[in-house]
Amino acid sequence: MQRGELLYEGKAKQVFATDNPEVVRMTYKDEATAFDGAKRAVIKDKGIMNKRIACLLYRMLESHGIKTHLVEEIDERQVRVKKLAMIPLEVVVRNRIAGSMAQRLGREEGEVLESPIIELYYKDDSLHDPMVNDFYARVLGWASSEQLEDIYSRALQINTVLSELFDRAGIILVDFKLEFGVSQGEILLGDEISPDSCRLWDKDSLEKLDKDRFRRDLGGEGEAYREVVRRLERVLLKQ
Ligand code: C5P
Repeated sequence: MQRGELLYEGKAKQVFATDNPEVVRMTYKDEATAFDGAKRAVIKDKGIMNKRIACLLYRMLESHGIKTHLVEEIDERQVRVKKLAMIPLEVVVRNRIAGSMAQRLGREEGEVLESPIIELYYKDDSLHDPMVNDFYARVLGWASSEQLEDIYSRALQINTVLSELFDRAGIILVDFKLEFGVSQGEILLGDEISPDSCRLWDKDSLEKLDKDRFRRDLGGEGEAYREVVRRLERVLLKQ
């Protein structure tokens, strides 16, 4: 297959052109970064595990009528996805207090929220992805009211489907980040959902099975990601 021009290189992925202008090829890398790239490492086979997890989750979401950019899997690290005009927002959904929310409010991590909270962050590394709200998004032209409504309802629907799925895998979905983009006038879920972009806690021990192992120097990140693959495969592939 032709390699195609490198269109974009992010912290964890590369995106290449394909023969079809509507489709790009995405390669998952093993590099891990945290704190806007200030902390870096290579986690062996992380790209393979994240690609596997993201594909399992996106197929599951598609089966619930949630449209994603995924077109097809190429190999263990690569997928073909629809080319999106990205909406420059990170959409965070929280089921429990953790991470930056715990810090900002001086609250304990783990407190269960009465209902999910959605936050918006403006996607710009040089500004450290500042928190914004939907007035910013509308007035500054990042997304229309209709698009925001669509994004909120999809984010909540994704949360319902994934919380239930992870629960069956013995995992609490504490919080996660989504990115959306537009393809041929339609909003699609882009990027990836993986332990890099979620907080996943073991239901019994509350052990962290996500990128916080790397951010907080807990070690064992490779094994934690592998455990998420194992548990999702057990739940999804036996159906
Ligand atoms: O750091 P914070 O608590 O705001 O993160 C909330 C959720 O969003 C976490 O699951 C984290 O992994 C994810 N996130 C992300 N990319 C960012 C910021 C947060 O995937 N740039």
